[in-house]
Parts: sequence; C-alpha cells; structure tokens
Amino acid sequence: MTTIDNKLQQVRARIAQACAAAGRDPASVALLAVSKTFGAEAVVQAAAAGQRAFGENYIQEGVDKIAAVGRAFVPALQWHCIGPIQSNKTRLVAEHFDWVQTVDRLKTAVRLSAQRPDHLPPLQICIQVNIDGGPTKSGVVPADTLALVRAVARLPRLRVRGLMSIPDHAPDFEAQRAIYQSAKALFDQIAALGEPGLEDFDTLSMGMTADLEAAIHAGSTLVRVGTGIFGDRTNPVP
Ligand SMILES: *Cc1c(COP(=O)(O)O)cnc(C)c1O
Repeated sequence: MTTIDNKLQQVRARIAQACAAAGRDPASVALLAVSKTFGAEAVVQAAAAGQRAFGENYIQEGVDKIAAVGRAFVPALQWHCIGPIQSNKTRLVAEHFDWVQTVDRLKTAVRLSAQRPDHLPPLQICIQVNIDGGPTKSGVVPADTLALVRAVARLPRLRVRGLMSIPDHAPDFEAQRAIYQSAKALFDQIAALGEPGLEDFDTLSMGMTADLEAAIHAGSTLVRVGTGIFGDRTNPVP
C-alpha cells in the first residue's frame, strides 16, 4: 500500500469519526483531495486508491495536471478550481475544470458562463463567502451573498451548487465551529428559499486538514484536504 493510500484511509477514518460524533451520516460528507504543488503521479496514486475529486489552486498547474493524468479512470476524475481566478484565466478554467469553488464576483461568473464549451456539462459553482470578515480576504461578504447566488443562478452555462469558505485558523475547536456555524446558517437560509435555479444548492465546502472535525460538526458537506493526504507542501508554489 502506498503512503498516499494509507493517509487517505486515515482521512476517511477522521471524517467517519467526526460524522459519528456529530450524529451525521458519513455519506453526507465528500472528500476533495487538494493536490496543489504535487505531481500527476500523486494524483494517480490517490485515484488508484479510489479518490475521484481533486482540487487545484493554480490554474495553469491544474490544467497541466488534468492533461497529464488523462481520462483513464472510471468513473472519471472530477476537478475543482479552488484558487483565485484572474480575468485572463477564466477561459482555461471554463474549458478544463468541472467545478469552481471560488466565484466571489459576478464578472468572473459571466465570463465563465460565456466561455464554457457547449459540449461540456454546465460548470458547477460554489460561491466563496468571506465568513469571518477579513478585510483583505477573497469572498463575497455574507450580506451580499444571496444577491450573487441569484445572479449566478441566471447564467446559462453555470449551475450553482452552494457555498465555500476559507476562514482563518481559530484558536480552538469551539471558536472554529462557531465560524463554520455562521456559514452553515447562511447556506441553510439560501437553500430554504427553494428558488428556481437553486434546485442543486446542496454543497457547503468547508474544513481542511487542521479543522475538518469542526467543519463537519457545523454541517460541511465537502472537506478539502491537502496535507492530510499528500503530506507537507515543500515544493515551491508556482
Ligand atoms: C491548500 C488548500 C486546502 C488544503 O489545505 P490543507 O491544510 O493542506 O488540508 C484547502 N482549501 C483551499 C482553498 C486551499 O487553498
């Protein structure tokens, strides 16, 4: 068994344990393997161990890796863009990724919709929310989130799937959980509207290696784990 295989099993066990502690069905939390800075071989190893969803932060690195890994796996791998997207990179994202979790302004969404090729299914979108209010952080502020969700839902080649957040690290479990609970409350509010265009609003992406337990306790449906699966990122960031 490879180290990646081993670590994946450990992460899955952590998710199962956190679900049990929170009284949740383990099938209600999906795992995104964040492969940024690691090579295509690492992705292939994780895929051979059953992992299907992968997240990349740096667009060109992600596109190169998608090409290198190819389409050999069944079911196919699913690629999520989880990094900031400059306007000149939207076309690459629209042409190569399956999901984008970092939409925080309408302008980006409009470009992604216009540039999504017709032969591909709609791009699956999470709106990134700046839930803990850091002034320099990416993400739409909570008060403007519903308006952005509604505007994105009207774009023809995008499908709004939910919210994503990357809060700063809090001092302890309770503090972390409280922040994640505010994201969950916002998510529930929007999901409860049941509006046209929000039929698939089912994804709350939050929690990473260090704090996935707190995120799952608060209601995360998708944890994004890098270090816990692939090890420390010593490679320089491109
Ligand atoms: C790098 C990254 C992760 C994974 O972080 P780890 O601490 O290595 O698990 C998750 N989400 C985003 C947006 C990231 O950039």
